[in-house]
Amino acid sequence: MTITVAILGRPNVGKSTLFNRLVGQKLALVDDTPGVTRDRREGEGNLFGFTFRVIDTAGLEERFDASLEGRMRVQTERALEEADITLLVIDVRAGLTPLDEHFANWLRRSNKPVALVANKCEGRAAEAGLAEAYALGLGEPIPISAEHGLGMSDLFHTIQAAIPEADEEGLEDEAAEAAGPLQLAIVGRPNVGKSTLVNKLLGEERLLTGPEAGITRDSIAIDWAFEGRPIRLVDTAGLRRKARVTGKIEKLSTADTLRTIRFAQVVVLLLDVEEGLEKQDLTIARMVVDEGRALIIGVNKWDSCRDRDAALLAIRERIERSLPQVRGVPLVTLSALQGHNIDRLMQAVFGAHEVWNRRIGTADLNRWLEAVTAAHPPPASAGRRVRLKYMTQAKSRPPTFAIFCTKPQDLPTSYLRYLENGLRETFDLPGTPIRINIRKGE
Ligand code: GDP
Ligand code: GDP
Repeated sequence: MTITVAILGRPNVGKSTLFNRLVGQKLALVDDTPGVTRDRREGEGNLFGFTFRVIDTAGLEERFDASLEGRMRVQTERALEEADITLLVIDVRAGLTPLDEHFANWLRRSNKPVALVANKCEGRAAEAGLAEAYALGLGEPIPISAEHGLGMSDLFHTIQAAIPEADEEGLEDEAAEAAGPLQLAIVGRPNVGKSTLVNKLLGEERLLTGPEAGITRDSIAIDWAFEGRPIRLVDTAGLRRKARVTGKIEKLSTADTLRTIRFAQVVVLLLDVEEGLEKQDLTIARMVVDEGRALIIGVNKWDSCRDRDAALLAIRERIERSLPQVRGVPLVTLSALQGHNIDRLMQAVFGAHEVWNRRIGTADLNRWLEAVTAAHPPPASAGRRVRLKYMTQAKSRPPTFAIFCTKPQDLPTSYLRYLENGLRETFDLPGTPIRINIRKGE
């Protein structure tokens, strides 16, 4: 089991910077304008090899209207509910503000484990602010500098202390992870119908796609269940189109898609049937495969398509030609607007997840290896046979195999492709990336 850490605090204290530091990628946008981080984001944090889930929360902002504030507050509260420990971040350079006190009071009343994190503590200027921080009544502040990476070991100890006894091991194994929610991302070009699909799936307006532009400019995660199965929907960078984004934020878009993909286990690449599969779609699809995620192609706006056969054939052909590395990738036609085939899309998602998690027994694999190498032996190199001796599945998610070979460097790529396609067919592994590592072994 993984523990969950929530980051809370008023705007501009450095929550995003801390989140980035913990998660180790450029995951959140950092900006001097208060309120750039307006929604909740989450990621896998890592401190000295210890991994945990981090949720960054939105601050309570005065400059928004009451309804938006209310909704953000609900999200913040939900994040706190899930948290094993909450980090209340303050800015020691700016000193305490009424908003800091408001958060502190609120957290004290909530009776949840809280650590007071005093940020921007690098250098002398911080000392007075640090002393002042005791006044919040949350115990000893942990001095850190999120920007400079100072104080991380203290933070590490504090977070670890929040682990319930039984979970001391901390490191999650595949089984535990498999029992968690299915992590799903829906990606695609603007206007293909992603928000329509997401809203349909959730059955309610939970994406904050209200009139307040800009709300989803950063990534969010939504937990829900489909027919009783827990699912975590990780956003959908493309939804930010609604934000009429400008300048520096817009540039993060490809990075955002990649990041969204990395958070997901199964990725639905949504297309507009009238537009077909374009270069940009293939780029996204390749990212999904390269990242080792299970891919599904959703062909949306089926209701509005006139020549369906031609459209579908063109898409199918393009996939087979341009994505030979994921043969058999599931393709589902749907209408997000009319709610047609949404069930089938979700069945495909569960199916792909199952394939992605598949474990194949070593005995079966070696029987298979013997058969395929007998049917079609690897080419000889310098007059000597290259022999494949033994094979095992090293891991799942995605299925990854190790094959021991007498001369790994002499095995041609075409032969690897032959093995990969054979594995796919024999063990029914459509659409998922397969990794084969050839190792030297006598
Ligand atoms: P958030 O609104 O709480 O998410 O705050 P941000 O992470 O966006 O940070 C607000 C500002 O504080 C940015 O200009 C950061 O560069 C700056 N900042 C963050 N951490 C530190 C730190 O450790 N020291 C200093 N001096 N500035 C920091
Ligand atoms: P996003 O940019 O990918 O999030 O796309 P939207 O969900 O905002 O949808 C873009 C436009 O396509 C909107 O006008 C939707 O009403 C429309 N749309 C979405 N799904 C369908 C569909 O299944 N059929 C039709 N005909 N239109 C759709």
